[in-house]
Amino acid sequence: MNAPLSRALTDGSTADTVLRLSGVRKLYKGAVAVEHVDLAVKRGEFFTLLGPSGSGKTTTLRLIAGFERPDAGTIELDGIDVARTPPFDRNINTVFQDYALFPHMSVAENVSYGLKAKRVAAGECRERVAEALRTVQMTAFAGRLPAQLSGGQRQRVGLARAIVNRPGLLLLDEPLGALDLKLRRDMQVELKHIQKQVGITFLYVTHDQEEALSMSSRIAIFNGGRIEQVGTPRTIYDKPASAFVAGFVGTSSLLRRDGRVHVLRPEKVWVAPAGQSLGEPGLHVETGRLVDEVYLGMTTKLVIRLADGTAIEAMRANDGTAPDLPTGSAVEVGWNPAALSAVDG
Ligand code: ADP
Ligand code: MG
Repeated sequence: MNAPLSRALTDGSTADTVLRLSGVRKLYKGAVAVEHVDLAVKRGEFFTLLGPSGSGKTTTLRLIAGFERPDAGTIELDGIDVARTPPFDRNINTVFQDYALFPHMSVAENVSYGLKAKRVAAGECRERVAEALRTVQMTAFAGRLPAQLSGGQRQRVGLARAIVNRPGLLLLDEPLGALDLKLRRDMQVELKHIQKQVGITFLYVTHDQEEALSMSSRIAIFNGGRIEQVGTPRTIYDKPASAFVAGFVGTSSLLRRDGRVHVLRPEKVWVAPAGQSLGEPGLHVETGRLVDEVYLGMTTKLVIRLADGTAIEAMRANDGTAPDLPTGSAVEVGWNPAALSAVDG
């Protein structure tokens, strides 16, 4: 085996890596939009860039698509540096939040537009458009104009228009951002399903942590133009690498113990009236006072002030079995020591 090939195989790269960013940096008028961005996306992944507004997610997508050029670093698609490849020569499609459909063209014409531009033969074009519309369940709407569709339906057409090209990588920038919450939740499930069905690698941008956790195979957390952590949803949630990640993904309490800062998730905290057993062996137990209760339907959020003054949150299922806990009462709280996750502050 020759040296470059063996290196490629042992560092787990190349063959199954669709996209690789190394040391990418982009400035706008001297201000950093993104920097030190390293990322490797594997074939078939549903990979999500998650972070607050202004953290550099869209800039990263625009660099990958080729609409912007990095000031430093490299971007490789299928192992090839694309620094000199214009957007239309990259095997990539993008779905935007505002769909960007042609208003005067029917659904079918919108979907076939890219294939016609590439001079795909009429018969194949018809077949692929039909298949794409079937995938997004819009066959019955093929003859309609965009103005005759709901927001969710327009977004499906936007998706069909991208997948019909069978790109090696599909970029999606907050594609569900304009939809109301219920439709958004339905579309999340469907989008994930479609991604599996078509097998295209998705690079998805959102600021919605629930969306990221429920859809992604892996997530990169952006903060201030940098990536703070890359991992599976479970790793990001259970082992957040920083206080920022812990606070941005899910709710958490920060506890200073043994000279370190630890994250504690509310659903891992046990609570009982003072003097009563927590009913679980092996817990680390402390005393405190219940200072607030927020009823959330399925659960109630409890805020407890510990003896040392730290406020922590606990989540209680409203299943009718929990003992009565009036606000202000003394409580015992406990957690499994393994539930604490140290962060760097
Ligand atoms: P996100 O998509 O995470 O909300 P962006 O990538 O759009 O973040 O923005 C990252 C930073 O770069 C922000 O500070 C934003 O103001 C800045 N920025 C983005 N695009 C431009 C631009 N075309 N000109 C100047 N500044 C920009
Ligand atoms: Mg954005």
